[in-house]
Amino acid sequence: MTYDPDNIFAKILRGEIPSTQVYEDDDTLVFMDIMPRADGHCLVIPKTPCRNVLDASPEQLLACMKTTQKISQAAMAAFDAGGVTIQQFNEAVGGQEVFHLHFHILPRHDGIKLRPPGKMEDADVIAANAEKICAALAEG
Ligand code: AMP
Repeated sequence: MTYDPDNIFAKILRGEIPSTQVYEDDDTLVFMDIMPRADGHCLVIPKTPCRNVLDASPEQLLACMKTTQKISQAAMAAFDAGGVTIQQFNEAVGGQEVFHLHFHILPRHDGIKLRPPGKMEDADVIAANAEKICAALAEG
């Protein structure tokens, strides 16, 4: 399977479509999922191309894991969460829909299930939740 440079996350990286970004460094970008399954649901991606874990380089995986840990800590603080679910899917059969490597960060609260997939959230709600994560990151 080859990397499609016109996948939606590649377009976000090139600034061709909008996203609500919460963090970036030299190697990774983090933005809010438009169909959040929990408040604060965001996605960590490498800035360089790969489809998923199966073709990612060790460097891409390391960069994504470092950012995933950092943002998970901030998202838990931002939403006063008791835990975090990190999801990652590989190829269509594995549940992947967008073929640029990404890690889902889902803050969790006791007794509250993930919402069903596929429901768009209001842009202002997503923006407010992004602000909370940014504030937690700023506080360290
Ligand atoms: P999956 O490939 O199965 O891990 O799912 C892709 C995820 O990307 C889903 O949670 C979608 O809600 C999310 N998604 C799709 N398009 C966008 C977009 N333009 N901005 C942010 N998230 C998106």
